[in-house]
Amino acid sequence: MPHHQSPRQTVRSALPAAILYKTTITVADRCFFRYNATMIIPFFIPHSGCPHQCVFCNQKHITGCTSPVDPSVVPQTIKEYLASNASDKPAQAAFFGGSFTALPCEMQRAYLAAVRPFITTGQLESIRLSTRPDCITNEVLALLREYHVTTIELGVQSMDDVVLKRSGRGHTASDTVNAVSLLKTYDFLIGLQLMPGLPGDSADGFMKTVGAVIGLRPDFVRIYPALVIKNTPLEELYRSGRYMPLSLDKAVALCREALERFERAGIDVIRIGLQPTEELERPGTVIAGPYHPAFRQMVESSILLDAMRSALRARKGKKDTVTFQIHPKDLSTAIGRRRSNIELLKKEFGVRKIRIVTGESVMRRDPFLFSTDQE
Ligand code: SF4
Repeated sequence: MPHHQSPRQTVRSALPAAILYKTTITVADRCFFRYNATMIIPFFIPHSGCPHQCVFCNQKHITGCTSPVDPSVVPQTIKEYLASNASDKPAQAAFFGGSFTALPCEMQRAYLAAVRPFITTGQLESIRLSTRPDCITNEVLALLREYHVTTIELGVQSMDDVVLKRSGRGHTASDTVNAVSLLKTYDFLIGLQLMPGLPGDSADGFMKTVGAVIGLRPDFVRIYPALVIKNTPLEELYRSGRYMPLSLDKAVALCREALERFERAGIDVIRIGLQPTEELERPGTVIAGPYHPAFRQMVESSILLDAMRSALRARKGKKDTVTFQIHPKDLSTAIGRRRSNIELLKKEFGVRKIRIVTGESVMRRDPFLFSTDQE
């Protein structure tokens, strides 16, 4: 990467020509990032640098990784990933699972220096990492820029100080505001992670967090509903009756509202719900809470269900059979788990048969009432 390029310019260079001519990146362009743009080479540094024990967090159980990667093994891992990368997607090294910028400076340099040769040769495009809002300073950002870090994700979780305190976060909402502002002055791509369902939070409170985060204009967000993971302070709170997690339905509804608000604001939501891992799926790891391996699909399925409801409400006459046309990638999401959307719609609207066909020209999550017939 040429040194004079900013991270935003660099990531744009991975886009197709049609997108390069645009002056702003749209929601659709950001979806290009999500689905196509980069091959991520992940390095887990569980709890490294963390100055606090957040009540909900046990990275060992969330990521299945017990100890931080040693910088000496980073180059070999990158080589192996690159050898297996059959596509021409640009590759990015990512440090997740801890508070990277709270690590001692020499340790940060050791990790970054292990990646640098691959960036110099053009085999890797950039580096991304996650950290805490109260561990962002001018000095640390200057270091990260020097080593080609382009994307920084902050564990924001909530913009309510009471919720943050009860969750053991050890920072305030104003730390997030200050961190985002500083990250923007250095032109990093900014991702913010949110967590509905924390102790002391409510549906209204979480929507205020969503509004505050939209006001910060990040490049993307991730939403992870709070879960009770074993061997965490939250497990103790839950077992003693002092904490009750969100139900799955409530979490889906909250995340859906948040997703729609972020998308209307032009902010991409790149993940909803934890990535299923072998460790997470092991019985007893998730003690309670709205965990589902296809959580995002449930959220999108609920959006599609309402879109099909609206179309059916607007249809003329009462017909036996209706056909929707949807984007091919929405097929299973529109049908719902165990055909739940189809069965619900048939019951609610007295329709005997609902067909779903696909069409490439249909927009994502925008089902089109194709035809209604009397059979
Ligand atoms: S949530 Fe982040 S800051 Fe808190 S303990 Fe886990 S990795 Fe550390």
